[in-house]
Formats: sequence, structure tokens, C-alpha cells
Amino acid sequence: MTSGSLLTAQDHVHLRRCVDLAREALEVGDEPFGSLIADASGTVLFEDRNRVAGGDATRHPEFEIARWAAQNMDAAARGTAVVYTSGEHCPMCSAAHAWVGLGRIVYASSTAQLVAWRAEWCLEPGPVAPLPITVIAPGIEVAGPDLELSAEVRELHRRLHGVPG
Ligand code: ZN
Repeated sequence: MTSGSLLTAQDHVHLRRCVDLAREALEVGDEPFGSLIADASGTVLFEDRNRVAGGDATRHPEFEIARWAAQNMDAAARGTAVVYTSGEHCPMCSAAHAWVGLGRIVYASSTAQLVAWRAEWCLEPGPVAPLPITVIAPGIEVAGPDLELSAEVRELHRRLHGVPG
């Protein structure tokens, strides 16, 4: 697990927004995940939250970001962009991120944390192997988790599954 000390103050601001987007998703009946993409100067270009409640389980924000970037940014800009996310990319989103040539990923909580929480709550594993970004896309620089924000993400997932606090 990487240390949170690798995160900059600007990283924290963007991660804070991702966790707020995750909370917003939960509050409208979706799964609590939120993400955004910032350009090399740190300006937020696009943000989204999970939209799987309508029945399409591929509507992850990181996947939307990859598609948005492919349509709206040139290759050089994609390569220096940074994607921030409340929860580490799943294999589908890690692959999409790498295929469109995006840059660094910073996550508030890791896939390993989510797997541990789900096990603690006796939930069934999901249909996709919980592989970390670095296994799916070894060329991508990653940072996270953030200890304080990951505790907040855990709380959102606890609420999603109706686990007593
Ligand atoms: Zn995903």
C-alpha cells in the first residue's frame, strides 16, 4: 500500500471532490464512486459519478472519463492529464484509461481496501477479479490511498450495503 504522503495539496482538493461526487451518487440511489480528470495545470476538465442504477453496470465514471478524453483531448494532453477517483479503477476502467493514453491516477481508496471491507461485511465477490491498476496497466503511475478520505469512502459503502455502523 502506497503512503498518502505522496499526495500533494492539490491532489487532496481533487480527491475531496471525488468523494463528494461518490456521496452524491449514493444519495440518488447509485453506487458511491466519483471521479474527475484534470489537465497538467490542475484545472478540472470533466467529472462524473457512478450511473449504474439504470441497469448498465459499465457506467463507471472512470470509463466515462476515458471516452470523454478520447473525444475531447489530443494525445499529448491525455498523456499529461491526471485522473482522480474516490475508488481505484476496476480492470475495465484501468484498461480504458490505458488504451486512450491517459496519465497518472490518484485514488482515495484502493481496490484492496474495498475487497477487505466487502469480506468484513460478508458480501459476495463481484463478477470481475479485483486486480489493481498496476496489474492491468503497468505503465500507469498511481498514488493512493488517502487514509482520511478512504475512511469516508468506507462509510459510503457501508451505507450502500446497509451494514450496521
Ligand atoms: Zn470501473
